[in-house]
Amino acid sequence: MKTIKDLDIAGKRVFIRCDFNVPVDADGNITDDRRIRAALPTIRYCLDRECKIILASHYGRPEAGKYDKKYSLAFVATRLQTLLKLAKNVIMADDVVGPDAKAKAASLGPGDVLLLENLRYEAGETENDETFAKQLASFADVYINDAFGACHRKHASIYAMTKEFDSEHKAAGFLMNKEVTFFHKVIEDPVRPFIAVVGGSKVSGKLQALTNLIQKVDKVIIGGGMAFTFLKAQGYEIGNSLVENDLLDDARAIMYKAKKAGVKFYLPVDLVVATEFSENTATKYVPSQEIPKGWMGLDIGPASSRLFREVLNDAQTIIWNGPMGVFEMDRFAKGSIKMSHNIADTHATTIVGGGDTADVAQKAGDVDEMTFVSTGGGASLELIEGKVLPGLEALDAIIV
Ligand code: AMP
Repeated sequence: MKTIKDLDIAGKRVFIRCDFNVPVDADGNITDDRRIRAALPTIRYCLDRECKIILASHYGRPEAGKYDKKYSLAFVATRLQTLLKLAKNVIMADDVVGPDAKAKAASLGPGDVLLLENLRYEAGETENDETFAKQLASFADVYINDAFGACHRKHASIYAMTKEFDSEHKAAGFLMNKEVTFFHKVIEDPVRPFIAVVGGSKVSGKLQALTNLIQKVDKVIIGGGMAFTFLKAQGYEIGNSLVENDLLDDARAIMYKAKKAGVKFYLPVDLVVATEFSENTATKYVPSQEIPKGWMGLDIGPASSRLFREVLNDAQTIIWNGPMGVFEMDRFAKGSIKMSHNIADTHATTIVGGGDTADVAQKAGDVDEMTFVSTGGGASLELIEGKVLPGLEALDAIIV
């Protein structure tokens, strides 16, 4: 994959598509600025080469075509300013491709950093609109994609815009290169034993990833809501737990494939069950075979955590995607937190898929102990599925 290092960017106007879609709390404070920090190496590389830098990102899901202050990226400009420790201010545009952005982009000097407003304020972004892409492209001589977390989306700033630059003027940023190289190497050439830990709500969202992983790993651990479809497929009573009845055959097929390939397949042996999907409800621990009628499993139990720790003991490579329970509620977060500790405690190369799983590792205080925490949940999942991501295809990336 061509990276920014392969291009001549000195003194040029460089557009960097970043992923500044960071989590914030109810007061609007950034709760985890990893995605902003992860973009710094590429920005600094451009600063050192006296570039005129134009940064762009989406944030949240504003109604397309509407400028809703709630989704403004101004708070990101402030954090960038702090992290970059620039003498000059990061310049914030009031619009995306409107008169303010145009004027500010035109007056950039060497080493200036301009952040455009939320790309999704313009309907053309999610529509992969060519006219909008051309407007964005007109700001720059060089296009850099460093938004790994968004490169599974065929959006204008990820896809259509790249058509406006030839191969000497477009490339991946450092973060994008690191993410793709890491996932690719781990999946195609892992040090064994290679173990996949897969959780989250539904089998349907991860069916393809599971099917692909089964062919590559030595062991699979399943937790979270998706475990109940597998438990039911084995004939267990699962009460009111989350289940996808239309996927029972797929679940059986995955378990059969695992067995045939000699891949060890682990499901929770005990669970935390509750009468309601709520923090304030009756709960108890039960073996997986004994979920009472009317109760639902919302977390894995302590015996499962101990079993999974044993299973992970000899791992050399671990890939983790999806929480073990409803970790957003403290009462059902223990299984996910323990899984994070168990993974962090191994001597393995550990890769944490982004999104919820990264949140769990952060909540558990284990981020520094993991080898690699991806900034992209959906994008990393699609890489595991073996899909070609639109953002990579657009860069003519050939990954071998
Ligand atoms: P996903 O987006 O598929 O990775 O799923 C993440 C979501 O799965 C989180 O919001 C969890 O709350 C949810 N989840 C995990 N375990 C369960 C469970 N046992 N029942 C319902 N939802 C769950």
